[in-house]
Amino acid sequence: MSIFKKSEDKQHLETLDEFRQKIVSAHMPSSIKQIAERELDMMCRMSPATAEYTISLTYVDYLVSLPWNKKTADNLDLLRAQNILNERHYGLDDVKERIIEHLAVKILVMNKKPQILVVDDEEIARNNVEHILNKENYHVVTAANGVEAIERLETSVFDVVLTDLKMEKIDGIGVLEKVKNKYPDTQVIMITAYAAVDSAIEAIKKGAFHYISKPFRLDEVRSTVKQALEKKLSTVSAKGSVLCFAGPPGTGKTSLGRSVADALGRKFARISLGGMKDEADIRGHRRTYAGAMPGRIIEEIRRAEFSNPVIMLDEADKIGGQDFKGDPESALLEVLDPEQNHSFLDHYLDVPFDLSNVMFIVTANVADNIQGPLKDRMEVIEFSGYTEDEKAHIALLHIIPKQVREHGLSDYPPEFSTEAVSKVINEYTREAGTRNLERQISTICRKIATEFVHHKDAVRLINVTPELVERYLGPRRYYLEVADENNRVGVVTGLVWTDAGGDIMFVEAANMKGHRDLILTGSLGTVMRESAQAALSYIRSNSSSFGIREDVFENRDIHIHVPSGAIPKDGPSAGATIAAALISLFTGRPAKRDVAVSGELTLSGRILPVGGIKEKILAARRAGVKIVILPFRNKVDVENLPLDVKDGLEIVLTDRIEEIVDTVLIK
Ligand code: ADP
Repeated sequence: MSIFKKSEDKQHLETLDEFRQKIVSAHMPSSIKQIAERELDMMCRMSPATAEYTISLTYVDYLVSLPWNKKTADNLDLLRAQNILNERHYGLDDVKERIIEHLAVKILVMNKKPQILVVDDEEIARNNVEHILNKENYHVVTAANGVEAIERLETSVFDVVLTDLKMEKIDGIGVLEKVKNKYPDTQVIMITAYAAVDSAIEAIKKGAFHYISKPFRLDEVRSTVKQALEKKLSTVSAKGSVLCFAGPPGTGKTSLGRSVADALGRKFARISLGGMKDEADIRGHRRTYAGAMPGRIIEEIRRAEFSNPVIMLDEADKIGGQDFKGDPESALLEVLDPEQNHSFLDHYLDVPFDLSNVMFIVTANVADNIQGPLKDRMEVIEFSGYTEDEKAHIALLHIIPKQVREHGLSDYPPEFSTEAVSKVINEYTREAGTRNLERQISTICRKIATEFVHHKDAVRLINVTPELVERYLGPRRYYLEVADENNRVGVVTGLVWTDAGGDIMFVEAANMKGHRDLILTGSLGTVMRESAQAALSYIRSNSSSFGIREDVFENRDIHIHVPSGAIPKDGPSAGATIAAALISLFTGRPAKRDVAVSGELTLSGRILPVGGIKEKILAARRAGVKIVILPFRNKVDVENLPLDVKDGLEIVLTDRIEEIVDTVLIK
C-alpha cells in the first residue's frame, strides 16, 4: 500500500515538474507566468484525485499551450499578394484593389524607418545610446534636457522616446506627459538611476512602456527599444484593420479571406457568429463551471498555434436575437476594437490575451444590419452578385477544376462545354452567388466518378454537354417565371433585396364584396403593410386621374397578397409595385409581366429611391425581365453599374407614378 502511495506521489511531482518546464518554454508575459506558477504551487498541496486538481491541471495545460509570443512573419510582398488574388479569384476588381490598398498601408507603416528620440542630460550616456541605436538603422534624434525634448516633439513625430527620468526644469515625467498627450501611440522608455525604481514604476502607471536602470547593458537597450517599436507598430497597424466583407452568399467572401491569409503567410481560421446563442461562445465560461471551456476566439488562436492568424468572423449581421444570453455586441467590440483588444479577457483564461496582432475579417450578408458601434470599427467592402457571364467564367476557370480535383478525376478531366455550364446556371440554379452552381457541378463530377468506377473499361474522355447535364441533374428546376407566363390583371412584378441577394416577387391584388377592408397576406412586415395602406389611400384620393370610378371602393374588400407566403418580406420599396397592381385591378388593364417595378411611394404620389439596385437588376435578368422601372433618384446607382450588368435590359428612371402605370399596364 505504502509503495503504491509513494509511486503515486512521485508521479504527481513529476507532472508538476513537467509543467514547470512547459511554463518556461511557453514564453508567456511575466504576469501570466506568475499566475501559472501560482496555480502549480496550489496543486502541490492538492490530492491528484480531486476534481479541483484536474481543473487546475487542465487550466495550466491550456495556458502553456497558447502561442503567447509566437507569430508568423508577415510576407509583405505586394506583387505576390496581387498575383495570389488574381490567380484564385475571377473579377472582383474593386474588392481586390481595396484589399491591396489595405495591405499597402500596412506595409508602409511596417517598413518606415523608425524615429527615436533620446533625452538625457548626461552627454556620455546620451551618445552611447545614440550610437547603438544608429547601428540598428533607426533614425535617432537627441535632446540634452527636457526643454529641448519638448521642442523636438513640437516639430517631429517619434515612434519611441527614451528619456532620462531625473532632469532639471522638465523631468522625464514631464516629457512622458507631453508625449502621451500629443501622440498616444508613441512608446516611452524611462532611463532611471538604480535607486529611483519607485519613480520609474510611477512612470509606468502614467503610461510609460518600460524602464531601464542605469548603468544599463547595451543589449538591454536594444531589445527594449525593439519591443517598444513592435508595440507601437502593432497598435498602429491594427487601427481600422477590421475589414468587413458584405454581400450575398457564394460571392467569394470566404475564399478571398483565405487568400488574404495565404498572401500574408498567416494562418486562417473561421468562426461562425450566426449560430451563437451565448456570449460564452465568444468569451468562454468561468473556470468554476464543470466542463468550462475558453471561447472560440482563444480556441482558434490555440489551434492556429500563432498569435497573429487571420480570423474570419462569419455572419456578423446574424448574431444576437431575443434568446441570446449576454451582450454579443460588447463582447465583439472587445474582440475587434484596437483600443480594447490588446487585453482581451476570456472568462476561462481569466488573464488578458493580446489580440492586437490578429487580422480580423468580418463577413455579413447586409452590412447595414450590423449594429452601429461595431460597424463603425470596420472598413466595409461590398461584394455583389454575379452576372451569368461572370458565373460561367468562375465555373470554367475555378469551380470545375477544383471539383474535378476533389472528385479524383484529374487523370481524365471531363470537358464541360460552355452551353452545359450555361444550362446549369440558368436551369438548375437561381442565386446571386455561386454556391448552388458549385453544388450542381459537384453532383455532376460525383456521377461521372461513380460511372468510372462501375464501368472500368468505359471511355474516359467525357464531354459534358447540355444533354448530359439533364441526364445527371434531372429535369430543369427553374423557369423564366416572367417570360413563361401570361400578363394578368392585378398582378405586377416587383423586385426585392434580401440577405441572399436580389429576387423578383409578384404583387397580387384582388377585390370582392365586403366592408372596405384591406387584407394583406404573404408574411408582410410592418413597413410593407404600411406602404400598401399608403398606396391604396393615394389611389383612392386620386382615383379620377387614373380613370377609376370613386364608387368602386364601396362595399368591397381589397386583398393584397405576395407569394411565397412563407418567406418574410419587408421594406418600403414595394410601394410603387403595390400601387401599380391596385390600379391594374381597378382599371382592368393587364400588367406586363416582364416589366419589374421597385420604388417607395409617398402618400402624395412621389417615388423615393430604394436600395440594392445592382442585386435587383441582376435578379431581374435572371428571371427574364425586359424593362426595370426604378426611382429617378437612383440614377447615380444605375450609372455606376458595370455595363455588362445592364446589358440587354431597358431601365426606366422616373419619379412619377403615372409614368410607371403607363409603362407597366397595357392600354
Ligand atoms: P461566400 O463566403 O461569399 O459565401 P465562398 O467564398 O464560399 O462565398 O464562395 C463559394 C464558392 O464559389 C467557392 O468555391 C469559391 O471558390 C467560388 N467563387 C466565388 N466567387 C469566385 C470568384 N470571383 N473567383 C473564383 N471563385 C469564386
